[in-house]
Amino acid sequence: MPTERGKGMKEVVIEALRPYGTSIFTEMTDLAEAHDAVNLSQGFPDFDGPEKIREMAADGIMRGPNQYVSSLGIPELRRAIARKMNRFYQLSVDADDEVTVTSGATEGLCATMLGILEPGDEVVLLEPTYDAYAPLASMAGARIRYVPLKDPEFGLPREELAEAFGPKTKAIVINNPQNPCGKVFSRDELAFIGNLCKKHDAFAIGDEVYEHLVYNGRRHVPLLSVPELRDRAFIVSSTAKTFSMTGWKVGYVIAAPELSRAVRMSHQFITFCGNPPIQQAMAFAMDLPDTYYTSLLSDYTRRRIWLCEALGDLGFLIHPPEGAYYVLADITPLGFDDDLSFCRMLPEQAGVAAIPCSCFWKDRRKGRELVRFCFCKKDETLRDAIQRLRNWLR
Ligand code: PMP
Ligand code: GLN
Repeated sequence: MPTERGKGMKEVVIEALRPYGTSIFTEMTDLAEAHDAVNLSQGFPDFDGPEKIREMAADGIMRGPNQYVSSLGIPELRRAIARKMNRFYQLSVDADDEVTVTSGATEGLCATMLGILEPGDEVVLLEPTYDAYAPLASMAGARIRYVPLKDPEFGLPREELAEAFGPKTKAIVINNPQNPCGKVFSRDELAFIGNLCKKHDAFAIGDEVYEHLVYNGRRHVPLLSVPELRDRAFIVSSTAKTFSMTGWKVGYVIAAPELSRAVRMSHQFITFCGNPPIQQAMAFAMDLPDTYYTSLLSDYTRRRIWLCEALGDLGFLIHPPEGAYYVLADITPLGFDDDLSFCRMLPEQAGVAAIPCSCFWKDRRKGRELVRFCFCKKDETLRDAIQRLRNWLR
């Protein structure tokens, strides 16, 4: 919104960014706060990660040093990331040449895209698409080819995907598990994508921030474990979801040495480095025993089942997620047909906030029947939200 003071000034924002507007997460969290609503919109927990990690970070700040560290990330954290890749996926990753620590997955995505994309390159995005990919690719001057996943269960449209790849394709972004729809890609789907990348000499950028939240006994398949992609994939991940510390912004990119060089080239000029006490605490967190990771998953499994059932009982048509921590709810059985107006009204009228899903498609006529509720909240918060929705619907 232009201020009085800016009135009459010419547009300052670059053309590539103009179509995107203010992030829907900002808009909905602001609305939630304005109406004191239970915020099931932007995906951040209302509890903090393990106390021991927080203590270590606090001690680290007091003990110091608090100065710049290696642009690549402190060696302890890079080694811990490599150990975790080996522990969970039996992948051997070189901590010196293949791991780069970034300011959250967001900067990891940014550094990767700015490091590899030339103006005129094409990037393939699978819809519904997490909000950051298109603006980042656009800032790098790339063109975007959108390929919608198929109804009803967000299947991979193999033919359409193959058609979207061409001589200008530089990369595809695969968000696995996928925000907002919770899709988890199978090894077979990833191999299909891997073959397309190989055929067209393209890269695959895997956003795997929800790697530890995969339900129903399935297992996450990292892009680097797909043989066709070992030398063509960038895995971008983050400690935000796994350790329930979204505000700490510790992310990383793992890729073959030559690919990592491209990430490091841009990363050094974006943030240069992250902060050392937080990196030290996260190095410790990575090595937490398997019981930490299994209890994270079982807590989210419980909340997922509870929220899906509770929203279903209220009359929403639910798409239970295969991964991540969001539930998509179809609002048409309740007599609504426009997600955006529904979500703009909900905080004030019901005292609950959610995310409208049409913003995850380029063509906003798609996804208009869907709203996203997150379940990264305490049980009592989820119960409060459902009670408020029940009262309102009555
Ligand atoms: N990718 C996806 C798919 C996300 O949902 C989020 C939100 N946490 C991010 C990236 C951003 O991660 P970070 O906070 O580590 O930048
Ligand atoms: N990943 C979070 C979500 O999907 C939002 C992160 C952000 O606000 N950029 O809700």
